[in-house]
Amino acid sequence: MEDCLFCKIIEGTVPSEKVYEGENVIGIKDVIPQAPHHYLLIPKKHISTITKIMPEDAGLIAEMFAAVKQIAREVSIEDPGFRIVMNQGKEGGQTVYHLHMHILGGRPMDWPPG
Ligand code: 5GP
Ligand code: ZN
Repeated sequence: MEDCLFCKIIEGTVPSEKVYEGENVIGIKDVIPQAPHHYLLIPKKHISTITKIMPEDAGLIAEMFAAVKQIAREVSIEDPGFRIVMNQGKEGGQTVYHLHMHILGGRPMDWPPG
């Protein structure tokens, strides 16, 4: 946990461009954007992966979705649309082991994803 990049971003010891801050979750711009709009929603609590989410985390998960809605409205990607992505583990493409949700928008998304 001490070495967790996203914990450091939450503490403010690593700088980030914030787009959202709520009680349990922050939203930042991804430093290597994969689309014209690319944000990360990160719970303030250190949870390593999707499979470590516990029933008592229901409130922060709900806040993540409320934040998606708020950010999508603020940056005007609600219409034409956008994608949210959560990568789990090595084959899922997870590189930072602190739970986060990607919001990607501003261009058409391919399916199936790579
Ligand atoms: P993952 O691959 O774990 O789903 O996503 C990690 C994301 O964190 C990647 O999209 C990567 O670009 C982003 N990222 C890595 N280091 C930093 C950083 O220092 N600041 C910000 N804002 N994003 C980062
Ligand atoms: Zn962390």
